[in-house]
Amino acid sequence: MMTFVTRFAPSPTGFLHLGHAFSALTTFNAAQAAGGRFVLRIEDIDQGRARPEFEAAIFEDLAWLGIAWTEPVRRQSEHMADYEGALKNLVDRNLVYRCFRTRKDIAEAIASAPHGQSEEAFRGEALPPAEEAAKLEAGESFAWRLSLKKARAALGPAYFALVFEDETGLVRAEPERHGDVVLARKDFGTSYHLASVWDDALQGVTHVIRGEDLREAAHLHVLLQKLLDLPQPVYRHHRLILGDDGKRLAKRNHASTLRALRESGKSPADVREMVGLS
Ligand code: GLU
Repeated sequence: MMTFVTRFAPSPTGFLHLGHAFSALTTFNAAQAAGGRFVLRIEDIDQGRARPEFEAAIFEDLAWLGIAWTEPVRRQSEHMADYEGALKNLVDRNLVYRCFRTRKDIAEAIASAPHGQSEEAFRGEALPPAEEAAKLEAGESFAWRLSLKKARAALGPAYFALVFEDETGLVRAEPERHGDVVLARKDFGTSYHLASVWDDALQGVTHVIRGEDLREAAHLHVLLQKLLDLPQPVYRHHRLILGDDGKRLAKRNHASTLRALRESGKSPADVREMVGLS
């Protein structure tokens, strides 16, 4: 039987809420139904915001919900060298460039662009070598951006043939929607995109199941997989759980945290019912 591996990849920057419960349960149920595995990943690369107590709460809340994961749990902050290695691979192949523009510069460049480019769709290129050397010498900070132009040249026709499967069928990947994304910064070894794609492959994830707020990410992730020679998973996007105000839940909605619900006497079965999974 084909292995079927799903994952749940929370960031320990707050307590899990009903939206997380729905995502984790959907993902876990899919693995169970397929006789597969469910793995857990702690996406704590943002060490400024990640807290050990939130990580401990993730384990506790998931176990309370009845979710069991395959050990070991992958904690991203312990694997920065992996992501730096992946970045170096792209640097060595000249597929990324150093971008010294500040957010303000970029916002200005975009505002003056003719067709109302979105901030995400920023496109640029490496500075002339002497100019870059001077900025490096001066200690200026920069971001490593993926060059879509270089990626297209490197992959040739394969770039335009990039597709992925999601719940709507086969989708043609359009990495242009993201522009030249930041994959790392001078003082920060990786971005979510790079680390997530790397780890999905490393953890043998065959089915990435996550909220539809991340639907766009697949368009970029499949390009990164192609460039890094990683296997491509199947994608599935699920609905989002909305708060009483009709907006998607955020970590600040304390009342819908699993903690608060448990303290108010709700059971795991109540939580499943609240998210429409009973
Ligand atoms: N750490 C991300 C989040 O909590 C997960 C993104 C993903 O599933 O790829 O939103």
